[in-house]
Formats: sequence, structure tokens, C-alpha cells
Amino acid sequence: MRPFDELLQEAVAFHGHLCPGQVLGVRMAMAGCRALRIEEPKRMGKGLVVFVEIDRCATDAIQVVTGCSLGKRTLKHLDYGKMAATFVNVATGEAMRVAARDDAREHAAAYTPGVTDPRQVQIAAYRLMPEAELLTLTPVVIRPGWLGRPRVRVPCQLCGEGVNYGREVVTEGLAFCQSCFAGGYYDSPTPLDALRTFSGRT
Ligand SMILES: [Zn+2]
Ligand SMILES: [Zn+2]
Repeated sequence: MRPFDELLQEAVAFHGHLCPGQVLGVRMAMAGCRALRIEEPKRMGKGLVVFVEIDRCATDAIQVVTGCSLGKRTLKHLDYGKMAATFVNVATGEAMRVAARDDAREHAAAYTPGVTDPRQVQIAAYRLMPEAELLTLTPVVIRPGWLGRPRVRVPCQLCGEGVNYGREVVTEGLAFCQSCFAGGYYDSPTPLDALRTFSGRT
């Protein structure tokens, strides 16, 4: 694994600034790769997959260190709003979930006597803190369907748009896209009531 400072520099260049998230993200990625005994993550190609649970600064650092990206389908974003990521060795199936400890922020001050700015405290402390105080590592098993995705495309019965990779919701034998079925991040003129009427039908 390349040295921390080198990786941090690369992350800052990509992300645009030095922030606690860059330090934390580099440490998370290094811990995840080390746990999977991956020395050179960027050489893994599609053999390394990372599930990130937040879209914040640290996600950029994780992308830089691992070389995983959304477009390569090796970086998967789950909008859980948690500072955590799971690193997966696709060949062996080994998976390690790395989460930032909630109490790391409270302990940070002890590592940076004399520093008052909370942001600077975090930036400095997250470099120095022993891993066990900063992160928790938990071996996990990735559920079926989250890695290899079926190459299928099904039209949504409500909006008509194609849904790829088995991400449709099937109810009463009919396929719907997730936004039509559960309500998505946008409103559209399509009457969602039509679906509710459909679902309520017996
Ligand atoms: Zn940032
Ligand atoms: Zn739809």
C-alpha cells in the first residue's frame, strides 16, 4: 500500500481541498484494503468493489485510493447517510465494512493540544488516532444480487421507461420502476394514484 501522505495528497488534488473527510476517507480505504490484503487497489480493476453509504467528502478520497468509480460499476452508492463503506474482494467474496466511530470526534481533541479550530482538530487528529479509536471494521457477507447484476431491461408498467439490471419492483406480476412504485426524488405529472389503484385491486 502506498504511504498515507502520498494518497492524501492525491485525494486533496481530486477533491479540491483538504478537509477531515479526505483524511478519514484515505484511512477508511487503507484499512479496508489492508483487511482484504490488497496491496495495490488500482490494479484490481473490477476485482475490487466498494459500497459507500454516504455522498460526502470522504467518498472522493475512497474513490481516489481504490480507483473504484460509479461508471465502472465498482463504486456503489447507498444513500444511508452513514460514514461507512464496505470493501469487497470480488474473487474471494471477502467483504469488510469500515465505519467511522461516532465518538472519534470527541476523542480528537486529546490528540491536538493547543488547536482550537474544530476542523483543524479533526484534520490533525484523524491522521494520528490509532485505527481502533477512529474506525470499526466488521467482516460482512454481501447479499445476492448486489454484485453481479443480471443483464436485463424491463419496461415500467406506469412510466414506460426501461429498468436495467433487475432493479424493477414486481407486484401482482407487473413490473414498475422504483420511483413509480415507492415515490422517487422528483415529482412528475404521471398520476401515481394510478399505481395505488392498481396495487389496491384484488
Ligand atoms: Zn471536503
Ligand atoms: Zn416508472
